[in-house]
Amino acid sequence: MKLLDGKEVGSALKTKLQEQNKELKKNGIEACLAVILVGEDPASEIYVNNKTKACEEIGIKSILYKLDKNTTQNELLALINTLNYDDSVDGILVQLPLPKHINKDIILQSIDSNKDIDGFHPFNVGCLNLNIQGAFLPCTPAGIIHLLKSYDIKLSGLDAVVIGASNIVGRPMATLLLNEGASVSICHIRTKDLSLYTKNADLIIVAAGCVNLLKEDMVKEGVIVVDVGINRLDNGKITGDVDFENVSKKASFISPVPGGVGPMTIAMLLSNTIKSARNRLKTDF
Ligand code: NAD
Repeated sequence: MKLLDGKEVGSALKTKLQEQNKELKKNGIEACLAVILVGEDPASEIYVNNKTKACEEIGIKSILYKLDKNTTQNELLALINTLNYDDSVDGILVQLPLPKHINKDIILQSIDSNKDIDGFHPFNVGCLNLNIQGAFLPCTPAGIIHLLKSYDIKLSGLDAVVIGASNIVGRPMATLLLNEGASVSICHIRTKDLSLYTKNADLIIVAAGCVNLLKEDMVKEGVIVVDVGINRLDNGKITGDVDFENVSKKASFISPVPGGVGPMTIAMLLSNTIKSARNRLKTDF
């Protein structure tokens, strides 16, 4: 069994991005990410701090807008509009979830698709679905593809199963795998029998948010498993969706939690921001 080490692969990617950022600076461009947090959700605050810290690490400027939980939808739209027209801002990230009185879809659609470094704007989602290259890809699924390729795993022709069908992880993950030439099944909460799919799979991506959802008797020998889940146990520890101890006995590759998909998500966010800043140059180094 080989560990899909997101810490190591993410760190190598960050070093490469740091170099690209230095080149940008030589050309007078300061890559900049605007991060908007509405309200005081403790988990969101941690995510946002991790993202701004990661920017700092590789020299990307980040501006954090911490807005009151009572901020209106129109006030948020006005801020996004200002950032859309600000040429010094390369990426705009609105941390989800948003308070209930704000319509997430309207907000995500209001971000300039050229600054949509989360890859959630319908234009970028459409490009992904049409397999049009060059658009922004959502960070978690794109990070997983990068992780798998870093271990020379050939995706074309694999039988893949994605457990979870959210807009942020499951759906784009399945589309990216399809675009790579895998045969993909998508399972979700209403799937009658997960094992029916997982037992035959060469590759399983689990993104459900459910402790121990994937167990040893549900997978075949040699399977590749990527665990996206983040679950906080009563003892405060973080665990994924996979029974790691037992599934790892059968797997050829498996990602740990923490240290697997999480660091890749952050690295891809930085990668998308640098990509957007490089678009200002319209040249390749
Ligand atoms: P979500 O709640 O939006 O979607 C969960 C999906 O899983 C749904 O499609 C649901 O139908 C399916 N599901 C839930 N329980 C199931 C079950 N018992 N059997 C089969 N399918 C089931 O969540 P999300 O935003 O897609 O995130 C999924 C998990 O991944 C969460 O734990 C989240 O914290 C984690 N996550 C991690 C990262 C990272 O960077 N590591 C990024 C995003 C999300």
